[in-house]
Amino acid sequence: MSQSFSFNSQAFCSYTKARAGVFSTPHGNIDTPRFMPVGTLANVKTLTPAQLQAAGAQMILANTYHLHLQPGESIVAGAGGLHKFMAWGGPILTDSGGFQVFSLGDIRTISETGVKFRSPRDGSMIDLTPERSIQIQNELGADVIMAFDECPPYPASREEVELATNRTYRWLQRCMKAHQRQDQALFGIVQGGVYADMRSMAARQLVDLDLPGYAIGGVSVGEPGELIDDIVKVTTPLLPEDKPRYLMGVGTHREMVRAIASGIDLFDCVIPTRLGRHGSALVRGERWNLKNAKFREDFRPLDESCPCYCCQNFSRAYLSHLVRAKEALGFTLLSLHNVTELIRFTQRIRDAILGDRFTTEFASWL
Ligand SMILES: [Zn+2]
Repeated sequence: MSQSFSFNSQAFCSYTKARAGVFSTPHGNIDTPRFMPVGTLANVKTLTPAQLQAAGAQMILANTYHLHLQPGESIVAGAGGLHKFMAWGGPILTDSGGFQVFSLGDIRTISETGVKFRSPRDGSMIDLTPERSIQIQNELGADVIMAFDECPPYPASREEVELATNRTYRWLQRCMKAHQRQDQALFGIVQGGVYADMRSMAARQLVDLDLPGYAIGGVSVGEPGELIDDIVKVTTPLLPEDKPRYLMGVGTHREMVRAIASGIDLFDCVIPTRLGRHGSALVRGERWNLKNAKFREDFRPLDESCPCYCCQNFSRAYLSHLVRAKEALGFTLLSLHNVTELIRFTQRIRDAILGDRFTTEFASWL
């Protein structure tokens, strides 16, 4: 790992594989386990950097695919990189664009070289290869960048998954060769679908390459929750103790608790802001639709125990009114609360691991 990056474990749970640690990057530390909000187009929708900071966000995500389409990486680089462009001084992670181009379905073609697709914006042909993805991510300038991988859909046959997993490995080697910046850590992604033997093989191959961090990808693509659990249980023990482990695209309370019990450190998911924009709140693991009639005259805060600006100042009745009237403030307040809720949840787990109370405090989730 380059000098600018390190992962140090601080405590281990006595009964599970859960751990608390600190992942250091050039733009600051991430206390793990931790939830990372997603800022697809260089913003976490409806939230300012100051609000994200107040929510406890440490590392946030941005999407290479979306930023390549607009405004284009040269504009971001011209601004001095993502941190300056979006005025977020903390750590940032960019994904490789792989997940998005594979989700395009019929309008893309995959070959050993990479993926060709028509821009949904202007119809022009775009060639996304491992080299190109890394070059774009080098220009965007996030602290952590992700390898360009092939994410097979669910369900997919063993043969399809095997092809994708082997190709992901070859692409990773091309990504490593293309990667130019010492101040960015390139994480590899373990693929392998729901097949335990392929996950194990992929994990072993990646670990041999001695990367600064490892992600588990290709989960949360429509498979049942128990399968995510099984994949994480098989893969995580094969990953090194002294590197961060990131479970991509997962961010519900239950999925996070279980993955943390298997040794995962980092999570991301669009759920908190997406729910916020649809007028829903995450309250202690439940989803509440604020349009529901029962909230119209409920003058209590959303969650009495939540320290966020939304819960400290506004009532469920007011939020219900804003959401019904489709006022932008309603979506901001709900997103702020939802992001705070998920980060605080992982922070509470972290505190419990540090005090070796994880399995007792979170027994109902495990
Ligand atoms: Zn709140």
